[in-house]
Amino acid sequence: MALFRDCVIHTAEEIQRIRVAMSMTAQVRDQLVSLIRPGMTTLQIDQLAGELIRSAGGTSGFLNYHGFPGNICISLNDEVVHGIGVAHRVVQESDIVSLDIGVKYNGAVGDTAVTVGFGELPKDTARLLKATQEALMAGIAAARKGCYIRDISRAVEKRALADRLGIVREMVGHGVGIQLHEPPDVPNYVTPVRGPRLVPGMVLAIEPMLNLGTNRISQDDDGWTIRTRDGSLSAHFEHSILITDNEPEILTWQKTM
Ligand code: MG
Repeated sequence: MALFRDCVIHTAEEIQRIRVAMSMTAQVRDQLVSLIRPGMTTLQIDQLAGELIRSAGGTSGFLNYHGFPGNICISLNDEVVHGIGVAHRVVQESDIVSLDIGVKYNGAVGDTAVTVGFGELPKDTARLLKATQEALMAGIAAARKGCYIRDISRAVEKRALADRLGIVREMVGHGVGIQLHEPPDVPNYVTPVRGPRLVPGMVLAIEPMLNLGTNRISQDDDGWTIRTRDGSLSAHFEHSILITDNEPEILTWQKTM
């Protein structure tokens, strides 16, 4: 692993380990998505995620990270990210559920997120989910050797603004692979900073967090849960990708995304 000022370039040996942790993370995400149902509590979802992570052979990448108390992050409706599974919160048919999952294995870590709904979704909810997923894919498409971090940001922002969605600014994508958070930051909006040039061996978690309302957020008294200030719905999709000589390789690609 070489740290060039503001980004991390992984060695071939590290990339092999990162691939395995990433595919484990994606597998857990997809299993969890297929198993969660309205009527479950968010604590049950968190415990199920913990079991899936263990049976895959890994450990949670989030548990105890800066003191986070859950196996994964579970954020409902107007909650943006960092929600904690609790026994008194029952998932309703009308809820949308954001699942952010990190799995550690053999000295590497994967990171991915998805927002799911149940049954037929209201038009605006479906629009939010579709646009957020498409913003993620637009960002990935821009992540090519020789481009800059800001090219990814621009692509995500453009897709988000096409649907007039609020782009959360306080939290951003990031380098990932050996540590859960490595440099550089990957904002979901254009900043004055171009950021590092993309070179093969960089691994990036791209993760738009988009709101049906404004971009403004607040933090709950639990010290973790982030929610929209205006109470509007929020969606979160995340893939971790490897910069290569050609197209980016989506390390957390599996059937549901
Ligand atoms: Mg992340």
